[in-house]
Amino acid sequence: MSRPYDLVIENGTIHTPSSSFKADIAVLDGKISAIGGPFTEAAKRVDAKGLAVLPGLWHVHCHFREPGHTYKEDFQTGSAAAAVGGVTMCIDMTNNTPHPTTLEDYEMKKALVAPKAHVDYALYGGGLYPRTVEALAKAGAIGIKIFNTRHIKEVYPYISELGVLDHGILFELYEATRDMGLVASVHHDDPEWCKRLTFRDYIDKGRTDAMAYHESFSKGYMYGHGMVAGLAASLYYARICGVKLHVLHLGVMPKGANEMVHHAKYDLGQDVSCELELGTMFMNRAQMEKVGPRTYNWAYDPEAGWDAIKDGTADMIVLEHAPHSKEDVDPGWKDLFSVPLGVTGAQEYIPLLMNAVNEGRLSLNDVARLAAEAPARRFGIFPRKGVIQPGADADFTIVDMSREGVFRNEDMLSRTGFSSWEGMATKGAATHTIVRGTIVAQDGKLVGAPGFGRFVPGTAASA
Ligand SMILES: [Zn+2]
Repeated sequence: MSRPYDLVIENGTIHTPSSSFKADIAVLDGKISAIGGPFTEAAKRVDAKGLAVLPGLWHVHCHFREPGHTYKEDFQTGSAAAAVGGVTMCIDMTNNTPHPTTLEDYEMKKALVAPKAHVDYALYGGGLYPRTVEALAKAGAIGIKIFNTRHIKEVYPYISELGVLDHGILFELYEATRDMGLVASVHHDDPEWCKRLTFRDYIDKGRTDAMAYHESFSKGYMYGHGMVAGLAASLYYARICGVKLHVLHLGVMPKGANEMVHHAKYDLGQDVSCELELGTMFMNRAQMEKVGPRTYNWAYDPEAGWDAIKDGTADMIVLEHAPHSKEDVDPGWKDLFSVPLGVTGAQEYIPLLMNAVNEGRLSLNDVARLAAEAPARRFGIFPRKGVIQPGADADFTIVDMSREGVFRNEDMLSRTGFSSWEGMATKGAATHTIVRGTIVAQDGKLVGAPGFGRFVPGTAASA
C-alpha cells in the first residue's frame, strides 16, 4: 500500500439492514476504502470494541430556523446538537423568513448556512409557486416541502403565506416536482376543520391551558383528524399526478393515516413513503405535564407507531426538531393555542432511539434501514450515503448500547437551552459521530468545526 489509511475503525460490530458482523473498516479520503481487516497502517484508529458501528444516521426533519428566526436556533447550534447526538446528515425544512421558495432566496439560504454546518445536510426547496420548482430543483433542493396547513391562529411556524391549502396549486406543485424527479414532502392538514372544532370546544370556552391543548390534540382536533383528511386528498392527487409523495408526521396523525398509506403502498402500488415521528411514541403523560408547552407531542396511539414499523407502513423514522425560544413557548402554560408548536429532538433523537432498541422495540438492523438506508434511497443519495460499503462516504454513528444518560437542559446545544425530554433517562448513546472519515463529535462533546458539513444536493441539481 502506498500510503496509510486515514482512519481505521476496529474491533466493532457492524450493523446493516440485513446483518450484524464483526469487521474493521478502513477509510481513505473521506470514503470507505475496505471492510474486513485487520488494517495495519492507519493515521488514526478508533477502538470500537464492545460498540455498535452503524451507517451514519440521518435526521430528516430539522428546523434550524435560518434565516429569519435565529434567536430560536441557527444552523450552527442546530447541527452541533445533531452531531453530539450522533447524527451525520440532516435535512432542513423551509419555514424560514424569507422562505426558500424562489431561486434567489434558496441560494441566499445555501450561502448563509454553509459556514455553519457541523454535519452534512440537504435543504428542501419551499413548495409555494409551481413556476419556481424547476429552479429550486436545479439549485440542489433535496425535495419540495409543502405546508398543506396553517396554524389555527396563524401563529408561526405555519406562517400564513407558506400554507398551500388550494388543491389546484397543490396539484401543480406535484406536477412540477414530478417533472424534476424529486420527492414532494407534505405536512397535510385540513385547518378549517381543526379550527372550527378547537374553537368550539376549547378556545371559545376559555379552556386554553397546556393540558387543555394536549387534550384537544389527543381528541384529534389540533393537527389530528384534519391531517388524515388532508392526506386522503393528497394521496389521490399524487397518484393521478404520478409524483413521488413523502408523508410527513406519521405518528402524529391518528392511525387512519397509517391505514391509508399502507393501502396506497401495498394495494395500489403508489410511490409513497413516510417518516414516522417517534416523539409521539416516546412522550408520556408525566413528561408532558412536566414540560407543558415545551413539546407538542402527544400520541393518540403510540402502539400504532410501532405497528407502522412492523407492517412496513413507515419507511423512515425521525424525532422532529422544531425549536422555539423559552420566551416564545412558555406563555403556553396559560394559552398553548396561541404559541408556536415546538419540540426539540436533534440531540435527543439517537439516545431515545437506542433506548427503544434496548427495550426491544426494534433492532439495530432496523435502525440502519430506517434512519440511514431508507432516507438515502428515497432522496436519491444512495449508495453515496446510507450504507457501509466500499466507495460510500465514511459516515458512521458508533454507539455504546450500555451508556446511560439523563437529558438536562444545561447540556443542550440547541439555542433553546431546554429539552422537551428534560429529566428522561436513556440507555444507549453515540460515542462517535463520524462524517466523511472525520470525527465531528465524541462522547457527548463537539470536536469538529462549523463549516465542515457539506451541502448534499438533490438528484435534479445542475452540475
Ligand atoms: Zn416540522
